[in-house]
Formats: sequence, C-alpha cells, structure tokens
Amino acid sequence: MPRCLCGKYFGSGYRLMTLTGSTFKKLQNIVGNAYCSRKKEDLLCYAYDATARIYIPDAILFPKDSKEISEVLHLANSDRFYVIPRGAGTGMTGGSLPVEGGVVMVMSRLNRILEIDKDNLIAHVEPGVITGRFHKAVEKENLFYPPDPSSSDFCTLGGNLAECAGGPRAVKYGVTRDYVLGLEVVLPTGEIIRTGVATAKGVVGYDLTRLIVGSEGTLGIITRITVKLLPLPKALRTMIAVFDDMTSAAETVSEIIRRGIVPRTIEFMDNASIRCVERYLNMHLPVDAGALLLLEVDGKEEEVDMLIEELKTVCVSRGVNDTSIARNKEDIEKLWKARKAISPALFQYGPDKINEDIVVPRSRIPDMVRKITALKEETGLTMVSFGHAGDGNIHFNIMLDKKNQEELKKAEAAVDALFEYTIELGGTISGEHGVGITKAPYIAREIGTLELELMKKIKKLFDPNEILNPGKIFPEN
Ligand SMILES: Cc1cc2nc3c(=O)[nH]c(=O)nc-3n(C[C@H](O)[C@H](O)[C@H](O)COP(=O)(O)OP(=O)(O)OC[C@H]3O[C@@H](n4cnc5c(N)ncnc54)[C@H](O)[C@@H]3O)c2cc1C
Repeated sequence: MPRCLCGKYFGSGYRLMTLTGSTFKKLQNIVGNAYCSRKKEDLLCYAYDATARIYIPDAILFPKDSKEISEVLHLANSDRFYVIPRGAGTGMTGGSLPVEGGVVMVMSRLNRILEIDKDNLIAHVEPGVITGRFHKAVEKENLFYPPDPSSSDFCTLGGNLAECAGGPRAVKYGVTRDYVLGLEVVLPTGEIIRTGVATAKGVVGYDLTRLIVGSEGTLGIITRITVKLLPLPKALRTMIAVFDDMTSAAETVSEIIRRGIVPRTIEFMDNASIRCVERYLNMHLPVDAGALLLLEVDGKEEEVDMLIEELKTVCVSRGVNDTSIARNKEDIEKLWKARKAISPALFQYGPDKINEDIVVPRSRIPDMVRKITALKEETGLTMVSFGHAGDGNIHFNIMLDKKNQEELKKAEAAVDALFEYTIELGGTISGEHGVGITKAPYIAREIGTLELELMKKIKKLFDPNEILNPGKIFPEN
C-alpha cells in the first residue's frame, strides 16, 4: 500500500506489516499513554523530513530510555511491525520516513548531557541532545566538539551519528565518526549492546562503533554516545573572498589545499545562493559576485593572522575581486547566519528542491564547477550550488515545480549526469546526507555487487525479521 502523499513511492508494498489495536495497547503499556499516539494530527507532524516527502506512520512513540526501546523492539519482532528511529527530522534523504508504515520512534526524551569529563576530554550524551546545545555546553568548559552540520541549531546528535554528519569544520577536523568513541545501542532484535571504549583509543575486536555510525538507523537504535572532545581553539579569524566567477573560486580552493594550508572551513556560495540569501536576510551581500568563499582559521593567536595572510595571497593569485575580515563576533555570526540560511532561502526559486551532496577530489572541483555550468546551460533549469568546498563537497540543488513533468524529467536526467561525472572523477554521490530513500536507486553506481551483498548480509544479521527502518539504503529488487 503506497503511503507517500507526494513524490515517488519507494517501498515494495509487499512486506507491509500492520499495527493492530491490541499491539498499540501493548505499546501504551510500555511507554505510557502520554507518550504514544495514533491521532492523525500527531502522526502528520512526524510524517516528513527535509526531503518534503510525506509518509504517514501508524503510530508515534516517545520512549524515555533504552529499556523501553528494547521492550518495543522485542514486541516489534513478536507482533511484527516496523520501527523507524527519528531525531529532529532534518535529514535530507528520507532516513526517518516510515516509507512502509510502522511506528516512528522519536528520540526527543533521551536528551540529557550525562557528563562532560574534562579530565579525559570526553563526554557521555544521549542521542536526542540538540547538537548546538551540546556545542554550547562543552564550549562553556573551554572544550570543543567540532562536527557542526549547518542544521546544528535543530538536529540531534543521534541523527548526526546515524548519518555521519559533516559540516563546515570538517576540512580541518573531520566528520562525526572521527569523534565517536563508544555507543550503547538497542539492536533490532531488542538486545542492548555496548560498543567501543571510553578511552582515548582501543582496538579490541571488530569496530562495531564505526559500523553503527553512518548506518542510517538501519542496524540499531543509538541510546547513549561517548564522544571525544578537543581543547577550544584560542583564536578565530573569518574572511570572505569575493570572486567574479565560480571557476576562479573553485581554483582557489584547489590551490589552498595544494599548498597545504589547512583552514577550518572553506565554504562557497554561487551567485544564485548569494542572491537568494540577500533577498531573505537583506544583509548587504555582494549580489553581483560570481561566487563567494567563506574562509575560517583557528588556532593560537599568533598563528591565525599568519594563516589569513597566506589565504589572502592564494586568493589574490587567483584573481579575487575583494577580501574582507570579520571585525568582531557579531560580524562572524552574521556571515554564518547567511551561510546557514541558504537551504531555506532557496525556496524563493521554486516550490520543490532536488538536493544532492556529491564529493569530488579537491583538485577536481574546477572540473565539477564547469560540468554544473554546462548542465545549467543545457537544461535551462534553476540550479544552485554551495557547500563545503574545502572537502570537495558540493551541495547541488535544482529548484523546480515537480508537477511540471517536463522540468522533472530534465532534472532527473541532470542528476543522472551529475552522478555519472562524480564517479568518473573518483568522487562519491554523498558526502554527508546519506543514502536513505532518495539515493537508494543510485547506490549500485558507486558500490560494487559483492560489497552491496555483504552490506545486505550485515543488515540481515542485525535484523533478521527486517523490523528496523525498512526501505532505506538498498534499492528495491
Ligand atoms: C538546513 C539544513 C542544513 C543541513 N546541513 C547539514 C550539514 O552541513 N552537514 C550534514 O551532514 N548534514 C546537514 N543537514 C542534514 C541533517 O541535518 C543531518 O543529516 C542530521 O544529522 C540529521 O539529524 P536529525 O536529528 O534531524 O535526524 P533525522 O532526520 O531525524 O534522522 C536521520 C537518520 O538518523 C536516524 N536516527 C535518528 N536518531 C537515531 C538514533 N538515536 N539511533 C539510530 N538512528 C537514528 C533516522 O532513522 C534517520 O535514518 C542539513 C539539513 C538541513 C535541513
């Protein structure tokens, strides 16, 4: 039974399991009446994510701890219903959507920062903690948790782990998986396991922690997280560099990397992103620029000015039009506000968005920029690019009206061509948003048959009854 109210239906329909009234009563007994619902108006609130696709769940649940989650999963196996973990629903690939129905398990009550251990530079947290809240809490202690997806004000740490979120600071500091030391996880079969360590390192046995991180809520429900922390950098400088065209900006990024300079962020915005953010926020951005780079360095006070000078030199060598350095904290916040506003601001260009987050080797960014320009000219579609250029991670967006079949066809062909070229350049079709449902049809372009079969076997081993988050990652046969 197809459940998507808009967009394409991805589930097979054959494996659908229903939630009976008596099973719902058992769920009420486990989590309490106040923490589960089947009311239509409640279900609708948990039926979507940032893909704007809508799949109505059979029920929603708000468990309080791993014990309740374990009981729910035991019940799911005996009474046969699907369970779909959900953080804040900001995912870009449909990971938290109940594409085949089932019970959406919202992690918002597991929201405690359990301990910030300053002596050992680690923290223990629950998965429902909002990432930005965690940043603030550790920074108060002069500590630093680098992974910072642009959605950090509203996404959860659990969702970050499940997607292995990146963000602007990944250029210097890496992504979520680089900070996760250990986990508590409820398996799809209901058992509770602990993986990894609470020490600076540890290599005993297979690395189950790394397997769970990035598994998009298909192998287990994360209920407790141990992360490592760094000392908070003492100084920070933020600079914007304005270019007449995208190619010069892209070549600047490649040159920065080639010279071995390591800023903590190299973000870029094309002209279409600059214009829509300006219209949205009205903050005097250079709307005639072809592209803008947002460069940030951190470290010791004496280091950061030197690094900024080096970056300026590279920018000048590639024909930068203008550079300016943020004078104070307010200026820095304003620049990041502009960068983080791109995603929502894009909807000025059209009611629907196709959003990809390809990564190419950083030396090949100029090639990819040329390809995107060519696709834009060939199709006449509204395409907007921005993203984490320092990682070669380009957020490529097509803004359109999906009801217009001609536009939709052209857009799908453009995505196809984009993915093909990404793979040809030695890149990957997703740097941080995951596969979910939107990229499942393309996974076999990047992952070989043997490797894909191995992944499916791992899923089967963890989840023999296919209870947890069905219809994700793997394409339908
Ligand atoms: C404006 C905007 C900007 C963004 N910028 C970035 C960015 O810079 N970098 C980036 O990487 N992403 C970005 N994203 C994508 C998104 O915010 C991330 O993927 C984020 O990690 C999702 O977190 P969430 O709490 O919203 O998870 P959800 O969307 O609720 O879920 C995502 C996946 O995690 C699973 N999941 C959630 N909690 C658990 C748990 N406890 N155990 C097991 N599985 C779980 C779900 O089943 C699902 O598969 C952005 C999104 C938006 C809307």
